[in-house]
Amino acid sequence: MAIVSCPNCNKSISDKHKQCPHCENNVAELNDEQRQQLAREKRIQKQQMFMNHSFLALFIFLGGFFCLYFLQPEPKSTNWYACTAAIGIGCIWYLINRVILVTLKKKK
Ligand SMILES: [Zn+2]
Repeated sequence: MAIVSCPNCNKSISDKHKQCPHCENNVAELNDEQRQQLAREKRIQKQQMFMNHSFLALFIFLGGFFCLYFLQPEPKSTNWYACTAAIGIGCIWYLINRVILVTLKKKK
């Protein structure tokens, strides 16, 4: 008995299972080509998700930046803290997503 990872949900399952106990995907009915196809689709979906996240992060960053620039809230006021936090969070979140995307692309 060997442990393999389910091509659909990536959880570890025994190769004796005909059906994945986690997602009920029919593991036994898949041939290698279908497995690779599924893995490819999963990776693209993942990349797409991180891509969306990085756009969202960029949006938050720019939102905070423009608020600070155009509204010019009093330093250390609630609005000022909100803008600064948005810039900080957006920037860090964006960078994290870019790093993950680069690592995902390197894996192939
Ligand atoms: Zn599964």
